[in-house]
Amino acid sequence: MSAPIANSTAHWRALDAAHHIHPFSDTKALNAEGARVITRAEGVHIFDSEGKSYIDGMSGLWCSAVGHGRGAIVDAIADQLRQLDYYNTFFKTTHPGVAELAAAIAQVAPPGFQRTFFTSGGSEAVDTVIRMVRHYWAAVGKPSKHIFIARRNAYHGSTMGGASLGGMKPMHAQGGLPIPGIIHVAQPYWWGEGGDMSPEDFGLWAAQEVARAIDAAGPENVAAFIGEPIQGAGGVIIPPATYWPEVQKICRERDVLLVSDEVICGFGRTGEWFGCQYMGVEPDLITFAKGVTSGTFPLGGVIVGDRVAEGLIGQGGEFHHGYTYSGHPGGCAAALATLKIMHEEDLVARVKSDIGPYLQSRWTALAEHPLVGEARMVGLIGALELTPDKARRARFAAEEGTVGLIARDISFREGLVMRAVRDSLILAPPFTLSEGEADDLVAIVGRVLDATW
Ligand code: PLP
Repeated sequence: MSAPIANSTAHWRALDAAHHIHPFSDTKALNAEGARVITRAEGVHIFDSEGKSYIDGMSGLWCSAVGHGRGAIVDAIADQLRQLDYYNTFFKTTHPGVAELAAAIAQVAPPGFQRTFFTSGGSEAVDTVIRMVRHYWAAVGKPSKHIFIARRNAYHGSTMGGASLGGMKPMHAQGGLPIPGIIHVAQPYWWGEGGDMSPEDFGLWAAQEVARAIDAAGPENVAAFIGEPIQGAGGVIIPPATYWPEVQKICRERDVLLVSDEVICGFGRTGEWFGCQYMGVEPDLITFAKGVTSGTFPLGGVIVGDRVAEGLIGQGGEFHHGYTYSGHPGGCAAALATLKIMHEEDLVARVKSDIGPYLQSRWTALAEHPLVGEARMVGLIGALELTPDKARRARFAAEEGTVGLIARDISFREGLVMRAVRDSLILAPPFTLSEGEADDLVAIVGRVLDATW
């Protein structure tokens, strides 16, 4: 067999198949099929090695908030790396970029959040939370408070800590998870699990599950509750409006810290700077990543509320935790440039009052299609629940998942990247999506539904 031509799709696929292990993939099956090779991105579009263009309906992996190919971010990263390519923030050192970024984040964070601990991404941020919260309770004289309450079907990353807090069974089945000290409770997924209850009653019931878990473990042993304001990877699960305020009340009454995992919802995705603000809750810690750099550089972190910061810092003593890339100069430059674009173009307000409502009205109209049971969207994050029977909110039984995957593959062919979770289709486009692009996107989804039905 002759070798594939250099710089061709076949060449890259062959190298990939021979040498690359893909995340969250069946590598054997993927190699048989051949990976899609993406070579370029601009605005809300990505382009493959054959020149085909796709609307990036997932912002990559919920990342590209300000759209692809933003020269100002690229220039900021390049300028920073020329000036100071790398230095760490351990051992009594800092650098201008990390100090500026921590201050810029405090400016947009909810009131009472002055400080940020930086990581390379979301999973590290979640792991930081586990250690930080347990350390906090020990530092304030309550070392027995160590248990975390999390939710089934939550996604909090792939590290041992993050995947343990997450409630994904297939992840727990690999690698001996979860780690001890974690209790999983119900998710506020009305469409899938609400039975005959109204969404409002189900939201309260799901919140009471948190109370029951804390009370069973003993509030004196429970450190924190962690949740995504809207579960992203679990299927864009938007909780009923009753859920989060009740969770907040339950945690306050029991002196349990509330952690809002905003790796997806943070930095504008819901039309507020943070998803907790959309849900009307005041957490103690906020994790973030992805959108903060619009995906251009790996950077995440934990925004620490004043109460926890005071407990951690107030009495002195070292927090034995950190990453080589905590506050990487390139990542900080990328985040500062991203935030500048968000401010200059008023993108969070655009998601809230302009393109968000525009897309939402067209998206929710897709619920008229016989295959769609529910079409939900907040800001620019949404899902379509595909169902064989709307009235019963039925699933595709034994074939669960396959209809979603079929629809997702048709969508790729039609030139739109969506993600499938079970029998649902997921969407989270860049905040820069134009009305015309939103129309194109919805027209493609209509064709996908017709072809799947
Ligand atoms: N937390 C949430 C809510 C996420 O959605 C993700 C990733 O999608 C993570 C944590 C993990 O982030 P990362 O993949 O950057 O480690």
